[in-house]
Amino acid sequence: MSPPVIKRRGFLLILSSPSGAGKTTITRRLVAGDPDLALSVSVTTRPPRDGEIEGRDYYFIDRQRFDEMLAQRELLEHATVFGNCYGTPRGPVEAALSAGRDVVGDVDWQGTQQLAKSVPHDLVSVFVLPPSLAALEARLSARAQDSAAVVASRMAKSAEEMSHWPEYDYVIVNRDVEKSVADVRAILTAERLRRVRQTGLAEFVDGLRVD
Ligand code: 5GP
Repeated sequence: MSPPVIKRRGFLLILSSPSGAGKTTITRRLVAGDPDLALSVSVTTRPPRDGEIEGRDYYFIDRQRFDEMLAQRELLEHATVFGNCYGTPRGPVEAALSAGRDVVGDVDWQGTQQLAKSVPHDLVSVFVLPPSLAALEARLSARAQDSAAVVASRMAKSAEEMSHWPEYDYVIVNRDVEKSVADVRAILTAERLRRVRQTGLAEFVDGLRVD
């Protein structure tokens, strides 16, 4: 008889970075190349930028709906960033995790701190740093959807955001997006192999015994 299949417990991979460091690109590439990885789509009260699509980039909701979700405990974590509210819907994350899939999400340092308290064993956190301040500013300006004032305010906030890097499990300097995607894939591979996440190991090893 062949040994039983090893089951796996999913985890939540969180990428944080100052705005413009490239985490959205990394996240998209990861999800596109990995059927075992689900994307957590956040809710936000921020208006959509040009080209952003409802349900793909965010669920765009008003403040009243946000407060309702908060009151109903429908958010796994939430934060106010640049004056807008953001949050991770709980339902899709819990469904994916219990089905043994991993979930990747883009959450700021405040949300990551909440998750580190509420789901410490299911959290893998990665902080993405820009290679330089000049590169960060160039990426923010190239976005073109944000005004010069918005770019300036995001630059001003970046130092505070970056000061939270020591709170993360992994840190990546995003010099080259291909290399960064490969690095996060390596993190995923290693975290999936953690003994505690392979829930059927004891049965599997039992099946390997010669009696
Ligand atoms: P943006 O408006 O540029 O898309 O995102 C602004 C900031 O909000 C980024 O730092 C991003 O990581 C953060 N953010 C996006 N979604 C969430 C979320 O669901 N929860 C938290 N805590 N932060 C989020």
